[in-house]
Amino acid sequence: MKTKFSSCCLNGIAEGCRHCVKGRKLVLFISGKCSRKCWYCSLSEKRKDKDIIWANEREITNTDELINEVQESHADSAGITGGDPLLFIERTLKFAKTLKSKFGKEFHIHIYLPTKLVNSNNLRKLSKYIDEVRFHPEFILNREKIKEDVEKIRLANQFWKINNIGIELPMIPNKKSEILNFIKIVREEVGFINLNEFEISETNFQAVLKKYKLNRDTYTIKDSDKSGIWLLNQLKKQKVKNKVHFCTANLKNNYQYKNRLKLHKILPFGRKTSEGTVTYLAVYPKNLRKAVREIRSIGKCFPDTKNKRIILSEKTAEKIIKERLYKIARVEEHPTYDSTVMDFCIIN
Ligand code: SF4
Repeated sequence: MKTKFSSCCLNGIAEGCRHCVKGRKLVLFISGKCSRKCWYCSLSEKRKDKDIIWANEREITNTDELINEVQESHADSAGITGGDPLLFIERTLKFAKTLKSKFGKEFHIHIYLPTKLVNSNNLRKLSKYIDEVRFHPEFILNREKIKEDVEKIRLANQFWKINNIGIELPMIPNKKSEILNFIKIVREEVGFINLNEFEISETNFQAVLKKYKLNRDTYTIKDSDKSGIWLLNQLKKQKVKNKVHFCTANLKNNYQYKNRLKLHKILPFGRKTSEGTVTYLAVYPKNLRKAVREIRSIGKCFPDTKNKRIILSEKTAEKIIKERLYKIARVEEHPTYDSTVMDFCIIN
């Protein structure tokens, strides 16, 4: 039942998850606006309720920027999420169509859909470009919604094969029996069930901490993992045929994200570390143009205008140190568009 990437499964994992664990999935966040207001929603401050599009860590406004991010991250698939992509169905279709036209029909696309706005018309339009659909049911907020959720999920069978239809929801510890009951009702309509370890975020911590305790890592919720394993065991006893995956925070941080970093394109003269980060030797001059001219006269360098710095080859760095031309920083950062800095020190 244990997978190689710190999660647990029964009968295998969905196709979209296969791309994800290898770090080959681009996350296309279509908008922070949502049709629902889940108390457990973990969207960050900079995304929640904001109508902004993100391709991984890159804020984008058009399809060219999306294509750049796919190429730089070496993605072979995408997961479209939000917010509620159905609130922006034309935008969702436009971006999904671009991915298929540019990268071919093998470029796998899955989508997360809160069930509220799901109807036959929306699903038919999406099915032209989307390979796999993952419903986020509403019953967890409102028990009366069970029948409605199941009817909406059933509609997907007109457009996708059952293996490409699933449900995905957070593993909230004291909801495990309700989740199990819902799975029993919906299991004939779906090929897979994904349960995510419940995590705290900057926007949900007040609501979550009123009801739940944290694990020692201070971001996962106590007993979410135990409940996930309990659910898997219950479903195993019932000999369900569905693929069931309990996706842990550890999988997200140590496999999905790290593997994505390792594949990411880096700038010239960078060195990749085994953790997927990259180190550069760089100068951060006041006058970038003038410094580029000076440094180019003594050796190789790369002007990184986005980050207002000049990245140096090791030989060039040695010459600059010897001639005391500039202060040089050794920077360790993520190779992602936002270049998250992990370590920064001046070496001369
Ligand atoms: S459906 Fe998803 S994005 Fe929307 S509020 Fe709920 S958890 Fe947040």
